[in-house]
Order: sequence, then structure tokens, then C-alpha cells
Amino acid sequence: MKLYFASGNPHKKKEMSRLLGGWELVLPKEEGIEFDPEETGRDFIENATIKAEALYSIVHAPVIADDSGLMVKALGGKPGIHTARYGEEEKGRKLSAEEKYMLLLENMEGVEDRSAMFVTALCLILSPERRYIIQESCSGSIALAPSGTAGFGYDPVFYMDEAGMIAAELPEGEKDRYSHRGKAARLMRMLIEKEAGR
Ligand code: IMP
Repeated sequence: MKLYFASGNPHKKKEMSRLLGGWELVLPKEEGIEFDPEETGRDFIENATIKAEALYSIVHAPVIADDSGLMVKALGGKPGIHTARYGEEEKGRKLSAEEKYMLLLENMEGVEDRSAMFVTALCLILSPERRYIIQESCSGSIALAPSGTAGFGYDPVFYMDEAGMIAAELPEGEKDRYSHRGKAARLMRMLIEKEAGR
């Protein structure tokens, strides 16, 4: 089964392919398809669905899309669906991953309840009548200072409750065991394998 991945990011493709058990994914740009839908949803599920529907309407073949972000309790659930662009409005420019998590620490100075969670939504469309949506989460807290070099994004400041460690201190395979994306992708993998008759 050919499965399109509604993303423009080869790193994400590699990660998602690994999480789905080695499934070969196809990015729209690999077939010369221009794909950059506006993520106007109110939550992760809506945004994953918007991306999946937009690509499905072009390729008319099985499509998977994801959307994820960090929800911090003390910030009223923010940055949420705006996690990838955190701080850009405040600073008026694009920020590096390190600048973003350092800004988060700055905005959390003196905050005692540092609980937070990562959320991932995945949307699989097999045909207009057959679609599956999975949302999973990973609970933890925002550390007081960054630590570790593994992973990406906010990993150096996210303490994972289940792992008992900061995400960036965990080797990749270990992180997948506990992460929002790992949990959601394992469930999706079962659906995809069943569909492909494996
Ligand atoms: P998107 O899913 O591509 O929209 O990105 C969501 C944002 O959340 C990006 O800024 C990522 O860096 C961040 N993010 C998502 N998952 C993780 C994770 O597992 N660790 C660290 N940051 C993450």
C-alpha cells in the first residue's frame, strides 16, 4: 500500500516511517506536488485532518497526517497548536529551537506548577468514507534548566513522567516508548498493517 505523508519535512518522514515499523511513506514534494495547507484548525485533530484532507483531495490515495504540540498548564494550555511558532509574534522573527525553549523557561520563571503535556494527533484517510483519528499524549513537566542533547524541539526542557528523565537525555528508541508520537504511531501501525493485509 502506497501511503502519502502530508508533510514537507524529510526528517519527520524518516521518524514517522520508523515509528510505523518501516512503512515506506511518500512526501508530496517527492512527486512534484505543491503542498502547504493553511493550518486553521482549533486543535491538533482539526489541523491533522485539514492536512490529510488537503492531500487526499490531490492524490486520491491513502494519506496520513500529523499535528503535535506542547500544552503547559500554567500558560492555560499554550503554546498548544502554535508550539512550532512559539515566541515568533513576541520577537517578530523566526526563532531557533533553543531560543524557543529558552523563551519558554523565561516565561515560566517563578512558576511552581510546571506540569505540561505533549500531544500528537494522527489522521489516516483511506477513502472519503474510511478515516481514522488517533490522539495520544505524554505527560510531564517543564524543567528548570535545559539538559541533554538527544531528540529535537523542546526535548531539553521536557521532563517525561513515565521515563523519569528529561526527553533529551533519552536515546531515541527509549523516547519512542513513552512519547506522544510513539504511542499514537504504534496504534496507527496496527491499523495500517491490518489494512495492507500484513
Ligand atoms: P508540528 O507538529 O510540526 O506542527 O510541530 C509541533 C511543535 O512541537 C514543533 O515546534 C516541535 O518542535 C514540537 N514538538 C513536537 N513533538 C515534540 C517532541 O517530541 N519533543 C520536542 N518537541 C516536540
